Amino acid sequence: MGLPGHRRTSSDKHQRTAHFGLKEINANVCPKCGKAILSHRVCDFCGTYKGRQVLNVEKRDLRSKRAAKKKK
Ligand SMILES: [Zn+2]
Repeated sequence: MGLPGHRRTSSDKHQRTAHFGLKEINANVCPKCGKAILSHRVCDFCGTYKGRQVLNVEKRDLRSKRAAKKKK
């Protein structure tokens, strides 16, 4: 089994983990509903992409409501 060749000092560890932090998300604004969305993704609130309706939001909401009822 491999063994570490050198002792890792606390400074070594900290220098390595300095890059582990989460980056800030660059959120865009949906042109239709104005909510924050990720770029190159369908708006989850109104179901549009590039001003085009691609998701039937009403149908999806109905389905999730029915699924919630079934669970009870
Ligand atoms: Zn939207």
